[in-house]
Amino acid sequence: MIVTLKTILGLADAKKIAIGAFNVAELEGIQSVLGAAEELGQPVIIQFVPIHEEYIKMETLGPIMVMMADKAAVPVCVHLDHCSDFDTIKRALDMGFSSVMYDGSMLSFEENAANTKAAVEIASGYGASVEAEIGAMDSEDGAAADNCYTEPDEAEKFVKLTGIDALACSFGTVHGLYKAEPKLDFPRIKEIRDKIGIPIVMHGGSGVSDEDFKKCIANGVRKINYYTYRAKKGGEYVKKKCMETEGPVFFHDITCWAREVMTEDVGHAMEVFSGISGK
Ligand SMILES: [Zn+2]
Repeated sequence: MIVTLKTILGLADAKKIAIGAFNVAELEGIQSVLGAAEELGQPVIIQFVPIHEEYIKMETLGPIMVMMADKAAVPVCVHLDHCSDFDTIKRALDMGFSSVMYDGSMLSFEENAANTKAAVEIASGYGASVEAEIGAMDSEDGAAADNCYTEPDEAEKFVKLTGIDALACSFGTVHGLYKAEPKLDFPRIKEIRDKIGIPIVMHGGSGVSDEDFKKCIANGVRKINYYTYRAKKGGEYVKKKCMETEGPVFFHDITCWAREVMTEDVGHAMEVFSGISGK
């Protein structure tokens, strides 16, 4: 069934776990994530990021995400990831997405807060949730820059001004693949969480160790965005299977191989985020 981000993160808060937020850019991605979630009986977030429209249009994948989430046996939030365009936010909400992220992290604090507040007003008309971000998590060299960490006092002010449901913070993670081992600022997570009183979102989950994930969750992270490793695992497994196969490879074989290994990868991530494994 479809639930909002606020509802699903409330479930996470009650259990002191994090919910995996898995970006999907293809049907096999949705099948892998929902398959793993149902197998483990865990709530889950599937999300679409507008930059992936170069692979598939939101108008194509979005309604499938909503339909499959609706039929799932576990609570599923359908979320729009990193969006700074109000038209796209409205398109997603019209499609039935239950949550959106307004990303104004590149703007000044004041502009970001004003736009985020406007996004909250739009989303509330649909009964949907809003995630927003302060502090930047993008870097050119695969490591977080010293000056982009989220300031706890700013975070508190931002949440009060905007009325958002979850805040993406910068505490040492970056998007994509890490070039050096990430150095995460755990006390900062706790300080921010204590000040803002709403769930913290961690972006850049690919390449963080299971141990570090657990420390982030213990300090107040409740949503973990995860994409790159799932996509990489799927691609590498297909490559290996293609090379091992004698004779023709059919396209339906590729989709089945990818689904198999991606379900496994997502399942492992969910076990770590929900504290099922490695206690
Ligand atoms: Zn992100």
